[in-house]
Amino acid sequence: MTDVAARATAGFRSAYGAEPAGRWAAPGRVNLIGEHTDYNDGFVLPFALPLRTVAAAAPQEGERWTVCSELSADPVSFDADDLATPGKVTGWAAYVAGVVWALRDAGHPVPGARIAIASDVPVGSGLSSSAAIEAAVLAALVDLGGPGLPEDRWPRLAQRAENVYVGAPTGIMDQSAAIRCREGHALFLDCRDESIEHIPFDLDAAGLAVLVVDSRAPHRHADGEYAARRKSCERAAALLGVPALRDVAVADLDGALGRLPDDEMRRRVRHVVTEDQRVLDTVALLRAGRVREIGPLLTASHVSMRDDFEITVPEIDLAVESALAAGALGARMTGGGFGGCVLALVEADHADKVATAVTAAYAERGFAAPGTVPVLPAPGATRLD
Ligand code: ADP
Ligand code: MG
Repeated sequence: MTDVAARATAGFRSAYGAEPAGRWAAPGRVNLIGEHTDYNDGFVLPFALPLRTVAAAAPQEGERWTVCSELSADPVSFDADDLATPGKVTGWAAYVAGVVWALRDAGHPVPGARIAIASDVPVGSGLSSSAAIEAAVLAALVDLGGPGLPEDRWPRLAQRAENVYVGAPTGIMDQSAAIRCREGHALFLDCRDESIEHIPFDLDAAGLAVLVVDSRAPHRHADGEYAARRKSCERAAALLGVPALRDVAVADLDGALGRLPDDEMRRRVRHVVTEDQRVLDTVALLRAGRVREIGPLLTASHVSMRDDFEITVPEIDLAVESALAAGALGARMTGGGFGGCVLALVEADHADKVATAVTAAYAERGFAAPGTVPVLPAPGATRLD
């Protein structure tokens, strides 16, 4: 397939019969470690993928926006009046309209624009194609609008686009990663105060890679189960008298568990509290340049999600087990669960071998073939030209 930026330009030319004024890219992401910690005021550690969404764009007269995507036959057009009527722009174009709406709602003038989207980020696999499209469009509109809006303000705007305009309740991780990640680094995000720190994660220099495995498992009951986990965590925090489970230290975990009424809730809490600690331990190892040693933390995170938080499915567990059996240094599900992706830390020159082993294990169990791609930490949203 041709390069994604070239496809965005081609899409722009064919939809609008003109040249774009520029192209802006934003990546998908995976979360290296820290699952279901975000809504417990805890820690996450995503990094940006080399898979990107590109917005080719040019200004157009008046307060009108027109957008097309490779994923959809027809361009969608909306104006300022349409934005004032919630629910007027629906479907995929709502992610774009949401960004225009959020910028305007925060008092930033947004020039009318034509936009064409192309993307290498798989949609709905948990690699955050939604934040990638939001961030690429936001970068384009901010740039076309003249004096820049500081980048540290972008994640909240993109999140508002998705939460309020699209109506999808997400935390701040996806948008922060798509916008603020740096090449060769992971983004350490404190979900309580939203502070970030770039942590060196130079896989390339260490001769390592992360293999991302898209399980292609159908998401089963994901929304209801997610809501149930969240509620259980909130109830536990209330019972323990803390604002959020982030406030339970690992050293106090046994005492805290003893004050909870049932085994299921105790296991949920144990996952969140130990997972926060695993993020901190991972960050400490990465800061010390001990990249290779994070493998066991990744695997421990998986075991905790599988046994304590109970959010994995057979396809996901099989990907982790077969990657480890083929020599991965560590492996875990990444994302909210009940499907989605697995990541495995591998020697760069073993990535193919591990991918082949996982694919063979899927075939043997009769599961649909997984997607596999080796990745290195890539940059966040940027202007291409
Ligand atoms: P994820 O973010 O895990 O990929 P979501 O359900 O959050 O899954 O977001 C996917 C939605 O985002 C798609 O259904 C579509 O509406 C929108 N989207 C993402 N990428 C594109 C794209 N390249 N073109 C059009 N819409 C896109
Ligand atoms: Mg998403």
